[in-house]
Amino acid sequence: MKAVFVDRDGVINRNRKDHVKSWDEFVFLPGAVEGMVELTRAGLRTVILTNQAVINRGLLSREALDSIHDRMTGELEAAGAVVDAVYYCPHRPDEHCSCRKPRPGLLLAAAGRLGIELEQSYLVGDALSDIQAGRAAGCRTILVLTGRGLRQFLRRDARRVGGYSISRDLRHAVHSILVTEKLVPASPLDKLAMGARRALTLPVFEQLPRLF
Ligand SMILES: [Mg+2]
Ligand SMILES: [Zn+2]
Repeated sequence: MKAVFVDRDGVINRNRKDHVKSWDEFVFLPGAVEGMVELTRAGLRTVILTNQAVINRGLLSREALDSIHDRMTGELEAAGAVVDAVYYCPHRPDEHCSCRKPRPGLLLAAAGRLGIELEQSYLVGDALSDIQAGRAAGCRTILVLTGRGLRQFLRRDARRVGGYSISRDLRHAVHSILVTEKLVPASPLDKLAMGARRALTLPVFEQLPRLF
């Protein structure tokens, strides 16, 4: 079974410096709901992943986080998307757990429980740590430029991480997944982008103009 792992903050909803602590603070990013709906229509499973160190920092209860996730999946499902699971890491970085991204624990747990074939699956994230988690799990990865994405992309180590493609936002990332899966025909622009992606010897910075 193929799945698309989607990071939450900065991909599905707007990042907040002081963290999303209640449903009032949860704002869907443009195109995020549509992207999730298109994945479901295409028959792909969806798993939302999120690092939530706020839990073990004592800034948010598990009940409050579950309630945010219930509202989020409720809105997505009302629009026609099926969310197969939401996985979060509650640990602080100093706890050195196996599930805080860039580690792949959340993906491995979801794959084990839902029967996901990781090599056939994708991860979409707005941080290099998401990309690293996806790659460690064997998935194909897409960095979106929403949320922290653009700034992460401009970091010096963005080149070193490598091995990911770039999309403007979740809706565009979903389109490129559906093209790769041959579920929608490739437009001439898509073909250009795929050509750039195949040319993995190109530094990622040189791929950017070809993708837009
Ligand atoms: Mg994020
Ligand atoms: Zn963890």
